Amino acid sequence: MREMEQDSLQRVARDVVACERCPRLRRWCRRVARVKVRRHRDEEYWGRPVPGFGDRKARLLVVGLAPAAHGGNRTGRVFTGDRSGDFLFAALHRAGFASQPGSVSRDDGLALRDCYVAPLVRCAPPANKPTATEIGRCREYLLREWRLLGGARAVLALGRVAMDGILALLRASGRVPLRPALAFGHGIEHDLGGGLALFASYHPSQQNTFTGKLRPADMDAVLARVKRHLSRPRGTGAGA
Ligand code: SF4
Repeated sequence: MREMEQDSLQRVARDVVACERCPRLRRWCRRVARVKVRRHRDEEYWGRPVPGFGDRKARLLVVGLAPAAHGGNRTGRVFTGDRSGDFLFAALHRAGFASQPGSVSRDDGLALRDCYVAPLVRCAPPANKPTATEIGRCREYLLREWRLLGGARAVLALGRVAMDGILALLRASGRVPLRPALAFGHGIEHDLGGGLALFASYHPSQQNTFTGKLRPADMDAVLARVKRHLSRPRGTGAGA
């Protein structure tokens, strides 16, 4: 059974990498990969859609917005090779969900424990702003991963768009009622029933971390709440 799940997660990854549904995003990712930035001019960019990665038995699903143009779109792994990833994985490491604090390349040895990280949209969007249509086209991949992570008990949404995206997915699959609307704010926690909780965090973008809007201690506090939640009995369980 577990081997089938592993195969299926691999199939999702293969389907993601080959996806061409969004012409605007595919053009943008290829252009960024061709033009590059000065500090990475000698590197070969990934330039393709970026799959999620992590522990297939994860109880924590971390949902980001999309790969960064010179981060995930360069390295081929989400939150890898950029400042947002430095911030996120350092926090996951402090909380015991990541084997190391750094995330620089696909083969840097980073392993996630009890945690899976996935972007809402798998292609880097111009100005970090995917359209609603692009988010909708990409939803299938996160939904498939969600279903394969059958033991997920906590979702950490990084930013409002990620939270709206995972909620839309859970509502469309019947896991969460259509109403009421759920508030977004750093540190807010929503009990989704059946042992599943949704945690909201500001996105670890440079705009937030450099200005002090999101500090390491703020992320540590959210992850501590996630761990407290995971330490409680499961109850009736979560699933799509
Ligand atoms: S954003 Fe998602 S649906 Fe659109 S091309 Fe990339 S992988 Fe495919």
